[in-house]
Amino acid sequence: MQQTKILLEESEMPTHWYNVAADMPNPPAPPLGPDGNPVTPDAMSAIFCEPIIQQEMAQERWIEIPDEVRQVLTMWRPSPMFRAHRLEKALGTPAKIFYKYEGVSPAGSHKPNSAVPQAYYNKMAGVKKLTTETGAGQWGSSISLAGQMYGLDVTVYMVKVSYQQKPFRRSMMETWGAKVYASPTDHTQAGKAALAADPNNPGSLGLAISEAVEVAASNPDTCYSLGSVLNHVCLHQTIIGQEAKKQLAKVDEYPDIVIGCCGGGSNFAGVAFPFLADKAAGKEVRLVAVEPDSCPTLTRGHYAYDFGDSVGMTPLMLMYTLGHDFMPPSIHAGGLRYHGDSPLLSQLVKEGIVEAHGIPQLATFEAGVQFARAEGIIPAPESCHAVARAIIEANACKESGEAKTILFNLSGHGHFDMASYDKFFAGELENYAYPEQAIKDALSHLPKVG
Ligand SMILES: *Cc1c(COP(=O)(O)O)cnc(C)c1O
Repeated sequence: MQQTKILLEESEMPTHWYNVAADMPNPPAPPLGPDGNPVTPDAMSAIFCEPIIQQEMAQERWIEIPDEVRQVLTMWRPSPMFRAHRLEKALGTPAKIFYKYEGVSPAGSHKPNSAVPQAYYNKMAGVKKLTTETGAGQWGSSISLAGQMYGLDVTVYMVKVSYQQKPFRRSMMETWGAKVYASPTDHTQAGKAALAADPNNPGSLGLAISEAVEVAASNPDTCYSLGSVLNHVCLHQTIIGQEAKKQLAKVDEYPDIVIGCCGGGSNFAGVAFPFLADKAAGKEVRLVAVEPDSCPTLTRGHYAYDFGDSVGMTPLMLMYTLGHDFMPPSIHAGGLRYHGDSPLLSQLVKEGIVEAHGIPQLATFEAGVQFARAEGIIPAPESCHAVARAIIEANACKESGEAKTILFNLSGHGHFDMASYDKFFAGELENYAYPEQAIKDALSHLPKVG
């Protein structure tokens, strides 16, 4: 019988997170404060607890995972890896396709890999309450789950359109004990201002971040937590790629190509950064980040200092950005609609170490359906971007006759996104490429630095 599933023992779960900053050719560009100087740890302590700030600025290559965190992660980790024999056959490709499956967590995606340590460190630091934002609801549900594990109160500002369109994500957060508000609300300055300008404001991720940050900054027992973009989030996700390496080694494989979808960059960082250590040591491996054509941050955005939220409360980060006032088109991969991207990942793309590609919406759902019919698992619309790119690479192997080894991260399942699949089947989804003019205009709105 062909081997399909590659598993690890609990004892083989990584004991350390991998910090890519240690292997980057140039040191990571620092976040800047309003005065144009690098942000001090002290300034960050208004919204983050001490251990999180330390990890955000860490330089050392390996950072130990606390036992109490590993204990909770073993609820679903190590996560399985599969060889996509049926998909390979359906495509008629000589390529070997492997995927790491992160949909096995209780929240259904990779996000609890960071939510759990974030909740743990906040608890240890004496924090009572966490605030956060959520778009489609995946991060909100992950931090609600993690808050519950360690006895922290969690308040989630959920983008209003998603609050209305995804009631079950809200129920999930409430089941895990969180308080969920439709953002913009009338109990923060940022929310009030947005509602005064437009009472029907549908909300955006940037605005929800402004609300969550404001509440954390104005309450001493409250910290803010973010589900992607920041260095410590990318760090926590590297457990994915480290496990993947061990799993491939068990079947004597090493990838030629590593693929992940990219919203803020965390699951991509998770699967790809551990391979970057080998690449830095001279090994040949392509690292490929995939984003929607409708939110083309890495492929068409500006590499510049910009705010992480829409109001301008966060420090300035050097990253690819579509402008902090970017209003996302309503595509279905809600988790990929952020205006910026991880500064670490952005810098690696800028330096040519990581490749980035865009995919149109319809092609992602076509790939998702093809994958589900071959492999069984129904991918989240975000993950469909990685699937689509893996299929493109496998088809290229068919053309060239090369038997490359392809690894991609299947970041989550699509069980809460079946309405999007319905629309795809009904022919109601469209391709939408973000207009060039809007990208040009964003340049004039970028904050001036120095
Ligand atoms: C949130 C999410 C993403 C995008 O976030 P990243 O930080 O870029 O990983 C991708 N896939 C799934 C399933 C998600 O929930």
